[in-house]
Amino acid sequence: MTSHIPIAHTISDLASEMILAMKKATAHAAKSGEEKAKKSLSVGFVATMGALHEGHATLIRRAREQNDVVVLSIFVNPLQFGPGEDFDRYPRTLQADTELAAHVGVDVIFAPEVEDMYPGGNPKITVSSGKLGTLFEGKTRPGHFDGALTVVNKFFNILKPMVGQATLNAYFGQKDAQQLALIQRMVKDCNHDVVIKPVPIVRADDGLALSSRNQYLSAEERESALVLSRTLATLREQYITGAFSPEQVEQARQTIDGTDGVRLDYLEVVDTDTFEEPVDEKARVLALVAAYVGNTRLIDNMEIN
Ligand code: AMP
Repeated sequence: MTSHIPIAHTISDLASEMILAMKKATAHAAKSGEEKAKKSLSVGFVATMGALHEGHATLIRRAREQNDVVVLSIFVNPLQFGPGEDFDRYPRTLQADTELAAHVGVDVIFAPEVEDMYPGGNPKITVSSGKLGTLFEGKTRPGHFDGALTVVNKFFNILKPMVGQATLNAYFGQKDAQQLALIQRMVKDCNHDVVIKPVPIVRADDGLALSSRNQYLSAEERESALVLSRTLATLREQYITGAFSPEQVEQARQTIDGTDGVRLDYLEVVDTDTFEEPVDEKARVLALVAAYVGNTRLIDNMEIN
């Protein structure tokens, strides 16, 4: 079945589609009663790199429930990939993504070409992700968060004027916990008029965090990858039962690194809000992990207290 969602490939197409979508939403609000029509509209935005799965669908459904208009971006952002990473082979599945988007109720898809986002080549002025951007993911992937923040900053700057007085809500997954923390920081530090809505991690039945990169895994690798979520769950169990100690973290590292075909990048336990060592007893505590399963780099995290 082909869908009829408008796909804007350029910023000016997006502007036209947003005018139509906002008009439709206003008319719909007016029809559905005075009370609703008096309230200002809201727009939900979900930024993705495509190859959509149930994790993305959950973000979109949340946006659909909470907003009058839902915009989905699909853009494999070259700025957030390092040399030797998977930019060229990252799955690009616009047809299937459009079907999924239609199914979950997206109003407008923004799928720009690299040239539309970065006319004339990479931008000279970019967002710097600061110290947090150099830790964990940022340590192994230098420049990754500067690239991710730069594109999210552009998306916000492109969309906000198009939604006018409407509230702009942007949905991001806790799967990318460090990215989410950095985006929240950017919104604060750069005074973006955008509300960030975090969405919990969506997992397969066996616990594997859903990711577009899971499709790189062979059946055997996928089985090995389960050690990540299982080890995080063990740490949570130990934390909750009071059996937690720094040695447990070291043991967890060894469990992951000792699994066939798995090479640990990092496993750290941090304060969920600061991403620093947890000191405050009341702090929420997050265990963060990254590992290579075969050639595929996977990340996962879990609040353990
Ligand atoms: P990506 O396409 O990988 O850039 O992800 C787009 C958005 O979907 C980001 O906000 C991710 O955190 C979110 N996301 C990806 N996978 C999941 C998942 N398994 N659960 C929740 N959110 C996810």
